[in-house]
Amino acid sequence: MSASSTVATTARPPTTAPTTATVVRIFPLHGLTDGQRSLLRAAQQEAGAVYTECMQAHRIARQTHFPWPAYSDLHHLTKGRHPDLCAQSVQATCRAFDRTIKSTIANRKAGNTRMRYPWKERRYQPIRWPAQALQRKRNGARFPLGGKGKDRRYVDLPVRLPRNAGACQIVWNHGQYELHACVMQKVAPAVSVADAPQARACIDFGEIHQAALVTDTGKGLIVSGRGIRTIKQGRNRAIAELQKKQARCTRYSRQWTKYQRARDRINGKTERRVRDLRHKGTRLIIEAAKKEGVRDLYIGNPHGVRRHQTGHHHNQRMSQWEYGSDIRYVTEKGGRAGIAVRTGPERGTSSTCPNPACRHKQKVRGRDWRCRLCGGSWHRDLVGATNMFALASEDAAVVPVPERRNTTYRRPGPVALGPRARIGNARRSSPGRGLRGTPFPAELITSAASHPPGPGSAQAPPGAGPGGQALGLLDGHGSPRAALA
Ligand SMILES: [Zn+2]
Repeated sequence: MSASSTVATTARPPTTAPTTATVVRIFPLHGLTDGQRSLLRAAQQEAGAVYTECMQAHRIARQTHFPWPAYSDLHHLTKGRHPDLCAQSVQATCRAFDRTIKSTIANRKAGNTRMRYPWKERRYQPIRWPAQALQRKRNGARFPLGGKGKDRRYVDLPVRLPRNAGACQIVWNHGQYELHACVMQKVAPAVSVADAPQARACIDFGEIHQAALVTDTGKGLIVSGRGIRTIKQGRNRAIAELQKKQARCTRYSRQWTKYQRARDRINGKTERRVRDLRHKGTRLIIEAAKKEGVRDLYIGNPHGVRRHQTGHHHNQRMSQWEYGSDIRYVTEKGGRAGIAVRTGPERGTSSTCPNPACRHKQKVRGRDWRCRLCGGSWHRDLVGATNMFALASEDAAVVPVPERRNTTYRRPGPVALGPRARIGNARRSSPGRGLRGTPFPAELITSAASHPPGPGSAQAPPGAGPGGQALGLLDGHGSPRAALA
């Protein structure tokens, strides 16, 4: 089920001048009644039975060297045998199975022989509906479940489907139901070659920085990945604690189930927060590339960095680094912005001096790249992306590392602090805008310190405390401390 729970967005290739793209929007289904949950559960099991039937038919055909069943054969095989599922959902499940077969064939032809044809029996499958099966209601949507005529059964769910929603599926993800709906989105007109110079750019993905972008127009953008790392580290710690507690319980006991629910909740929340930041970070990258008129974007694929054995702490970080989703998001967002995105190796890019006269090779230490031969110093992540131009094309003109004043550092989005961290004077800031809210005027602080305002003073700013009192000193973050005078 995990395969269907990821955000999959598909954009048509940029060569066909795309006007629309299908993106998947995810709606968490909170507050379902027990009745609704058991209806969905039964339908999921029925869909699992459909899938298993398809799988068995296909497996028998493979093993006995008979012609493999096509979609129409699967359709006839399953037709009318699954009363707990709407006929269109049965067909959609067959179609999904057929797609799995086709993609496995394509993968095996491409040399990936480790891909296996479906062989597992499935107890559950997502419940799928085509667009025409859904009915919009005033406060939600109605999903057909099975039965015919006046015995037709439905489940009404409190979800506001967008007007242009297409096919939907309901999946079970980290302990809760989610509705995944295909939505058609207009694609922004592609960057016209006439208005903008045809710039090129390279991206270096990292774990500390989510991505570093260097354009041949001399601009650099570094998107921080520290927020994502923080969220994941917090998750790892919380899960480890729960795991320890769970180990003391009897499996499937009441207490064990409570811990399991807590783990599901934490994992689900982490997944959603990280996915959100990844989308925001890659959007920053694509927007910067669009602004510079980039038409050709090269991504260094960091596969291989992850293979290194570097101690269990770093190994855990590396194994949780989802550069694959970053590559996918950049490719899709780039496709919708009219940018051709391709991937390739990034071998040696971060260990070579970007000075064309030097090209010294050395191991990098720290966040700055200091060449031991020519003495040059650059930001480490920009070096990797700059050197990638040589791999992106043979005739590459030498691209310099962007200067510091042409380099932008951004965080993909705010990382909300947990309830415990927010106590006290924790600095809360938002990306690209410095401290959140309006800063407290400096002259008020100094004048307040020299002439402590009396009760009801007109000078007291709004929100300074009851009656404008206790505004002696400010700790620099707007929260009043007791006046010392
Ligand atoms: Zn050098």
